[in-house]
Amino acid sequence: MIEELRALAGRPVIIGAGIAGLMTALRLAPEPVVILSKATLGGDSSSAWAQGGLAASLGEDDDPALHRADTLAAGDGLCDGEMAARITRAAPVAIEDLSRLGVRFDRRADGAPALGLEAAHSRRRIVHAAGDATGREILRALVEAVRRTPSIAVLEGFEARRLLVEDGAVVGVLAASARGAASLATTRVVIATGGIGGLFEHSTNPDACFGQGLALAARAGAVLADLEFIQFHPTALAGSLRPAPLISEAVRGEGAVLVDETGDRFLADEPGAELAPRDVVARGVWRRLADGHAVFLDARRQPGARFAQRFPAITAACRSAGLDPATQLIPIRPAAHYHMGGVAVDAAGRSSVSGLWACGEAACTGLHGANRLASNSLIEAIVCAGWVAASVAGAGTGRRTPPRVTSLPPAPDPSPVRSAVSRGIGILRDETGLASTISALLPLACGGGPASDPALLGLMIAVAARRRRESRGAHWRTDFPSHDVAAKRSTLSLDEALATFGSLAVSRQPIARRA
Ligand SMILES: Cc1cc2nc3c(=O)[nH]c(=O)nc-3n(C[C@H](O)[C@H](O)[C@H](O)COP(=O)(O)OP(=O)(O)OC[C@H]3O[C@@H](n4cnc5c(N)ncnc54)[C@H](O)[C@@H]3O)c2cc1C
Repeated sequence: MIEELRALAGRPVIIGAGIAGLMTALRLAPEPVVILSKATLGGDSSSAWAQGGLAASLGEDDDPALHRADTLAAGDGLCDGEMAARITRAAPVAIEDLSRLGVRFDRRADGAPALGLEAAHSRRRIVHAAGDATGREILRALVEAVRRTPSIAVLEGFEARRLLVEDGAVVGVLAASARGAASLATTRVVIATGGIGGLFEHSTNPDACFGQGLALAARAGAVLADLEFIQFHPTALAGSLRPAPLISEAVRGEGAVLVDETGDRFLADEPGAELAPRDVVARGVWRRLADGHAVFLDARRQPGARFAQRFPAITAACRSAGLDPATQLIPIRPAAHYHMGGVAVDAAGRSSVSGLWACGEAACTGLHGANRLASNSLIEAIVCAGWVAASVAGAGTGRRTPPRVTSLPPAPDPSPVRSAVSRGIGILRDETGLASTISALLPLACGGGPASDPALLGLMIAVAARRRRESRGAHWRTDFPSHDVAAKRSTLSLDEALATFGSLAVSRQPIARRA
């Protein structure tokens, strides 16, 4: 165990250093806090890849109520309307806060933020930075702010492997680092570990984002929510790059069209054509691929020669794959992109376990319902970080003796689960596929080996998807293609998921430990 960590005992611990984790730490200042990050601050995060921007009703023709209405429409009947109202009301102020922290948003000649338009938004309200590199610019400013804040202790290269829980409350975090195992005594932990794309064969998320925080929370007894709702982006660059570079919707917004290898514009008759809702386009592309075709984005006419200037980051990604997007067809395929589900939290980010909060993509606030409105996730993370920090600060410190732990779980490895997860809980789902994915994941989840945590989460998602016998938002069941008029948001604990399989034993906390 690393002895000098004793000095940090009692501080809140934030697991994950993407935009959600960094912002929560900054909002907590000057209260002392620890950030635990697998990589360097901001590294291996989805935040670094965010292109489009943040949605906020800043335009003269806009209003938080309009932003909320668009959010609810995208969420297909399952959003938490009160949460959507709170977040959309708070969004404009959050943009000002980010500017004060040093984020250089793209601005008009009069100094106001330049506002972009994205699919399913009824107004121009997307605030962006450095063209299509918004996430990277926000991370730059937040990392700099964190590094100059003395109350924030940063532990880079530390991977949280377990939450330590006694009598239903958090008492510590068990982590692994190159210097050995570390246990931190704390009664306040914030999960900010991002999304789950790394569980899939094709994802726009970095491999490090495979839902480890959700597995930790589930093993600690927390209730997870809306797990079955996973957004697949229709146009990721096809090929072997991990993460799969995203070819943003904005490229289609500028006139690029989807064609197969014969030149057929196969979505032309769909209402909205290439700018139909993301899940509709993703299913259309998926079906075309399943029929044995190749699918391409054709940007040669529009935006054509303007491509490199309008989309510098996408141009660089295409060039690294040996392509010139202005003159060549861009091969694309759908990829797992964003998880609407996560740790079920209340308005202050509190989970069902005492001492455990969640923020960012790992949390499920109910904002997104069955499908996320584009650019609503970064703003959710920024806004909710303030509420989480206020709740954590108000919770008071607990005991300071580091719990002594006798065994460290192995480093998690999601690669053995990717094929079963991608087959069963991909874009099109049915009973047979879900049952076969569950059979494949169950032994891995029970095994206690490196694939155990990723398999456990994949299993919980498959159970949630199997229970939802309807199609809604991003969840499409070919055997239940209609809406269920009585549908509600879903919740699932690990015990409930395992009860589905009778008396099978997957230990919630398979670590022997002495206090
Ligand atoms: C290509 C792409 C484009 C996107 N574009 C937009 C956009 O334009 N607008 C928008 O609103 N959203 C966008 N999103 C979604 C948005 O970027 C994410 O939802 C958001 O950045 C998530 O932030 P986060 O802080 O919750 O997680 P992340 O930024 O993913 O950070 C999580 C961090 O936790 C670390 N971590 C994980 N497990 C552990 C562990 N066990 N111990 C320690 N550390 C751990 C990870 O390494 C990572 O650094 C995009 C996503 C992608 C992938």
